[in-house]
Amino acid sequence: MLFEEPARSKYDLSFNLGRMPVRVHPAFWIITVLFAIGGPSTPTTILVWVGAIFVSILVHELGHALLMRRYGLSPHIVLHGMGGLAAADFGLRSQSRRERILIALAGPGAGFLFALLLVGLVLGLGYRTHLLGLAIGNGAALPSPTLQLVIADLLYINAGWGLVNLIPVHPLDGAHVAEELLRSRDPERGTRNSLWVSVVAGAIMVVVGLFVLDSPFVAFLFGYLAYLSFVAIQRHRGLPPPSASKGWKRLRERLRRTRRKVELRVVETAAKQSIESQARMEEKAASKPEIKAEAEEMLRSLSEEARRVRKPSSKIGHGREED
Ligand SMILES: [Zn+2]
Repeated sequence: MLFEEPARSKYDLSFNLGRMPVRVHPAFWIITVLFAIGGPSTPTTILVWVGAIFVSILVHELGHALLMRRYGLSPHIVLHGMGGLAAADFGLRSQSRRERILIALAGPGAGFLFALLLVGLVLGLGYRTHLLGLAIGNGAALPSPTLQLVIADLLYINAGWGLVNLIPVHPLDGAHVAEELLRSRDPERGTRNSLWVSVVAGAIMVVVGLFVLDSPFVAFLFGYLAYLSFVAIQRHRGLPPPSASKGWKRLRERLRRTRRKVELRVVETAAKQSIESQARMEEKAASKPEIKAEAEEMLRSLSEEARRVRKPSSKIGHGREED
């Protein structure tokens, strides 16, 4: 699950995989080809890479989507410029925490399963292959270089992409899991805490990208995601941007004064009406002393209430008093 769903375009490719609606945004092809021609490439390596990315992201999103469907949602899959997403029209609000965690894990899980099946197939046919730099099996090499490349790309993307997705940096799947776990411990601050985890994990990945993987791209990507999480924390705090804070304070003060005026007017009107009706009652009840005493008592409490409201320090109504 990565980023928002892009708007429909007339160059979208739409099809159904079984009963699962799939839409491929044109940006998916453009970005994937750009990545492929970034390194040493031939038309064959580009074609194999684009095909492997297409299949792998589809497998990943199918993992999410099939579990969503199992939990009663009607999901669809979109492949876009920044990867893919499996979305349901009504979100995951009605799912339990356990179900939401399993849905998040199902994406990387499907990729790992796919990689395992491929390794099993290659070994079962008596060949050897590589998985994330490790030699697997001691059979013959796969018969054609293109086939070797197909298997290598598929294994690399499914296992590698799955592992990357488990890093708890928003909006990767690992961050959704971390958020659910943190929210189960602290429902109010769980989301914010998961954003802090995201900032720290993203910063660590910047260092790993630069000094371990020697990949400026990984460093840049995680630096950017950490920055987005930091921005989200600021928004979460509800702080208005610094330039707007003066105007914001003025607006709050004006609202407060208006509310006070309205409250005063309401109490005054009520008191006036009561005094009038009291007077009428008094007239009628002049002959009955117990009703007269009751009326006087009501009048006294009402005028006390009006006095209390006029005092600047008094508080009327409910709600938090702004400072
Ligand atoms: Zn995912």
